[in-house]
Amino acid sequence: MALERLSERVSRLRAPNPGPMTLSGTNSYLIDAGRDRFVAIDPGPDHQGHALDLAFAASDRGATIAAILVTHGHPDHAPGAARLAALTGATVYGHPRSSFAHTATLWDGKTFELDDLCLEVSDAPGHAVDHVALYLRDEHALFTGDVVVGQGTVVIAPPGGEMATYRNTLETLRDRYAGAERIYGGHGPAIETPRAKFDEYIAHRALRERQVLAELRAGAATIPALVERIYAEIDQLLWPAAARQVLAYLDALETQGRVRRVRERCATAAERTLLELDLARLGDPVAAEELGAAAPIGAVVEYALEP
Ligand SMILES: [Zn+2]
Repeated sequence: MALERLSERVSRLRAPNPGPMTLSGTNSYLIDAGRDRFVAIDPGPDHQGHALDLAFAASDRGATIAAILVTHGHPDHAPGAARLAALTGATVYGHPRSSFAHTATLWDGKTFELDDLCLEVSDAPGHAVDHVALYLRDEHALFTGDVVVGQGTVVIAPPGGEMATYRNTLETLRDRYAGAERIYGGHGPAIETPRAKFDEYIAHRALRERQVLAELRAGAATIPALVERIYAEIDQLLWPAAARQVLAYLDALETQGRVRRVRERCATAAERTLLELDLARLGDPVAAEELGAAAPIGAVVEYALEP
């Protein structure tokens, strides 16, 4: 992949890991810190070629990569950090809750500074518990990782994903960085209308929540029944992913006391098919982690609205 110059200081190199979850691949960003040193954001999956491309992109411009900042620990964003650090000697920064190897920490409410570069750090949980967003105030540019991506919406799947937390993060970032003029997401193209995009994401989540409540009221009591009605238009290959998403909505509604679990029953063969993640067809380990495959949905829970 070729290095794309996006602004005075920011360039993007897309990792060679396209897929249903990663769109055209993970966006790795290089930021020019001003004195022959670069900062890399999201080095991507564990891929030697991509790590070399990043290191060469810096050396082609007479610079070295001095710091690697990782927005969150998912396998399409973080594993490349170790490789790139081995090639460049750069320091790896992660969230205090990140489980990948890092030697420095990105603190919410603090700044990251290197040479002439200053980035503001915000916790941004919801898609992943260890998610941060980074704001380049000089360019009014917000690096959102997988909180906001260039196309479509993102998957919020338990146990790592939490819908209420995620919606909170969207509102917080929108309001805190009201002056943002560009979003650089973890996947897809840059977004030139940050406020409208945040509003669109928030409205989409609110719409889905209303749909879940309406379908529960209409008698769809289980996740498979809700998925068939709400996600009728999407590729059925993605229904297991949609099921995790519906679970995230139900978990949030349950926490708010608006929905309760009535009972569990064993899944029918058709329900098992709908719920089972076909990881081979979805592509890669990314899907497994993003979709919470470690916590399979086994039994079918019947839900009811609280009066
Ligand atoms: Zn991602």
